[in-house]
Amino acid sequence: MTANIRIAILGAGGRMGRALVQAIAGEPRLSLAAAVDRAGIPELGIDAGTLAGVAPRGVPLSADLPAAVRAAEVVVDFTRPEGTLAVLPLCVASGKALVIGTTGFTAPQKQAIEEAARRIPICMAANYSVGVNVCLQLLRTAAQALGPGYDVEIVEAHHRHKVDAPSGTALRMGEAVAEALGRKLADCAVYGREGQTGARDGRTIGFATVRGGDVVGDHTVMFLGEGERVEITHKASSRGNFARGALRAAAWLPGRAPGLYDMQDVLGLR
Ligand code: NAD
Repeated sequence: MTANIRIAILGAGGRMGRALVQAIAGEPRLSLAAAVDRAGIPELGIDAGTLAGVAPRGVPLSADLPAAVRAAEVVVDFTRPEGTLAVLPLCVASGKALVIGTTGFTAPQKQAIEEAARRIPICMAANYSVGVNVCLQLLRTAAQALGPGYDVEIVEAHHRHKVDAPSGTALRMGEAVAEALGRKLADCAVYGREGQTGARDGRTIGFATVRGGDVVGDHTVMFLGEGERVEITHKASSRGNFARGALRAAAWLPGRAPGLYDMQDVLGLR
């Protein structure tokens, strides 16, 4: 693994960007080469470390994207799709690796990312938590070994501000189980139950959602059999776990062949 990898953070003024600046401060192998955000935001010019609540890093928040890409070996992007699409051609032109944490891309935007990945190494994951990615692997193993005789139910809890349900991570967990059982989630998912539901259909995967308080994100997948049940649970307690996972990807990516990778590749779980 390369020592002292220079990282540019795109979206460094945001919640994840600040968590990344904090996490880099605890990573001796990585250095903060640039901190970029949108033109016009009031935080421009402030030291990225100060913004993130750690010691000053000597790197002011800037809107100069080309300079940031030039200064870095790897760009880590947690912005909005327009931010990702703006940095993509700059990374391709200069052969820089890109870690994409931004979510919410349209199909044509995803296609643009796939095309760029023919020229440079790109890691893209909707969830950079190492623990969640390990859970996906555990779920495949459990589903394959336990087989179709166990009923699968997924329960997730998030804070009161979350606007979608079930969470993208719960759906990804459902997909992992469904694939391992030779099913398609779209054909077997049951989202909540009410009233005269009838007996449970053994081929279904059930989802239940809890919303409230400040829960960062809890997910439990239950495999319920005759006389026993297995539960695989992940609980997130801060954004730091996403930041540390994204930095693990940033340390893994330089020197890789062009391609579109995800956290399963980074963690050697494929
Ligand atoms: P946020 O709104 O707090 O921060 C986003 C930052 O990006 C802001 O500072 C904003 O000014 C900046 N930005 C927006 N458009 C930009 C552009 N065109 N160019 C440069 N900067 C731009 O949001 P957040 O909570 O930090 O989340 C950021 C993204 O990361 C979202 O898409 C979110 O869904 C995603 N996310 C992914 C994971 C994961 O594990 N993959 C985890 C958490 C959040």
